[in-house]
Amino acid sequence: MISFSYNERPAIVRKLSTEKYDLVVIGGGITGAGIALDAASRGLKTALVEKNDFAFGTSSRSTKLIHGGLRYLKQLEFGLVKEVGSERAVVHHLAPHLVVPEKMLLPLSDKKGLGYWLTSIGLKIYDWLAGVKPEDQRKMLTKLQTLKYEPLLKKDDVKGGAIYAEYRTDDARLTIEIIKAAVSYGATVLSYAEVSDFIYNEDFLSGVQVKDQVSGEQFIIQSNVVVSAAGPWVDELREINKSKTGKRLHLTKGVHIVVSHIKLPVRQAIYFDVDDGRMIFAIPRGRTTYIGTTDTTYDGDKDHVITTLKDAQYLVAAVNTTFPSVNLTVADIESSWAGLRPLIHEDGKSASELSRKDEIFESPTGLISIAGGKLTGYRKMAERVVNLVIKKHFNNRSFNSCQTDQIKLASNTFASVKQVKKFAHSVCEKIKPFGLSELTAQYLVENYGKHTEDILRYVGKLDASEAEISLLKAELWYCVHHEMVCTLQDFFVRRTGLIYFDVHKIWRWREVIANECKTYFSWDDSRTSKELNELDMLLHTLRNFK
Ligand code: FAD
Repeated sequence: MISFSYNERPAIVRKLSTEKYDLVVIGGGITGAGIALDAASRGLKTALVEKNDFAFGTSSRSTKLIHGGLRYLKQLEFGLVKEVGSERAVVHHLAPHLVVPEKMLLPLSDKKGLGYWLTSIGLKIYDWLAGVKPEDQRKMLTKLQTLKYEPLLKKDDVKGGAIYAEYRTDDARLTIEIIKAAVSYGATVLSYAEVSDFIYNEDFLSGVQVKDQVSGEQFIIQSNVVVSAAGPWVDELREINKSKTGKRLHLTKGVHIVVSHIKLPVRQAIYFDVDDGRMIFAIPRGRTTYIGTTDTTYDGDKDHVITTLKDAQYLVAAVNTTFPSVNLTVADIESSWAGLRPLIHEDGKSASELSRKDEIFESPTGLISIAGGKLTGYRKMAERVVNLVIKKHFNNRSFNSCQTDQIKLASNTFASVKQVKKFAHSVCEKIKPFGLSELTAQYLVENYGKHTEDILRYVGKLDASEAEISLLKAELWYCVHHEMVCTLQDFFVRRTGLIYFDVHKIWRWREVIANECKTYFSWDDSRTSKELNELDMLLHTLRNFK
């Protein structure tokens, strides 16, 4: 079997360009990854191509919650809440180290939000729709209890509160784990491979034309069926296919900002109302707290979505109104990200009112496109698409039924949260003598699960004076050889998340890591400088706003 390493790219390209596939999936976000895993595990010969790195699009720029979408209850989207709400426990079970239970605090006030009784009933319905276990069901709080949970809240505003169950994750890591699982079931997967056109046999699609962004070469993948899971780019591909008629996408931008946890020391994740009627999350993560999100209609460049000064000021003001002693300023922001929601346009509806439901479009030439939906619902979306592919195109062949609710992610993963905690404790004991903190142990386990052992084994004997960089080099080794890292940004943005949650580490070690990459990828000096310059430009954009 071809391993999932940069070194195997030429072999993967050869395979894609010479074999014929049942299904080719366009887009390596969570939706495409889920479809590839579902299809490959049912026995379809599957290929997936992504024009950038995996999770480059929306799937690395979400709020990073596996959640039922409490606010969709307000929009009476019971079906959506039921489906994604129930999926939370399923996805948690598939990767307990990566989809971690997180209690959410919901402060209540007289002036904003639904008020005590409506919230109490709403959360009860939320728990009921999602089948939440009795011990995890919502608990209503008095004013005093709420302020005890979060003393930073504006005391005069708080009338009570609620605690309810959600899960946090890392969206890009979840995507890469699903991609790796798809590869383990035989899917052939390539990043930096852009679909530039479609191939037709008479009037029906018979494949895609691909441009390899690494070598610059073009090749064709022959396939019986083509599914586009290109997220915000779905309409571009429908246009190339001359099938952009009827419903179309409506992109909305969502921004998150990241500050040091010392600046906004919330004790736990909190979901609060703001003056314009929207709701915002503040979520502690490692040494930081992140805050988001905005929701504004977007028609700019989809490949370069950035946080503007206005976005940053909106979120800073929301924090300062809710937590008045904090006095956050835009200068406190260490990092940020901005993503696009690929929603389905509905006449007369504002960005926040648009449905988050997914939608499947079928073109007369056979292109199947899927857009909308949530990270949380990726598995069910994939199941619907693969059911459709089989029904329409492979009626005469028999396949396994969908089994992705049983396919554990991160290969050798844990059975329960208890096991994760025990493992994290043992990692902590191993690395503590070398000056590495409990937070580092937690980061390693949440990122790599049991593969943390592979990384620590690669480091070998830790030396306290070089422990931090030895570990980072070992992470790079793992990500290059097992997770198809091809660039500095793949590593710092989407495999480790350091660009958001530990940006100082990048400033300390960017050149050392660039030199390691130089060796792994045989870069010359000019390529190495280009990678470093691009990384520096990104670091600059994520905290200097216009
Ligand atoms: P994408 O992740 O954008 O993937 C599409 C991929 O297709 C891209 O990587 C792109 O490079 C590739 N592509 C495009 N064109 C081509 C081509 N021609 N050839 C090859 N590849 C191509 N959901 C939740 O469940 N929980 C949350 O907390 C949450 N928070 C959110 C917060 C924000 C601000 C936003 C914007 C969304 C949030 N969502 C959340 C929704 C969720 O993130 C998205 O529904 C999901 O990530 C969409 O994934 P996707 O795979 O469909 O699209």
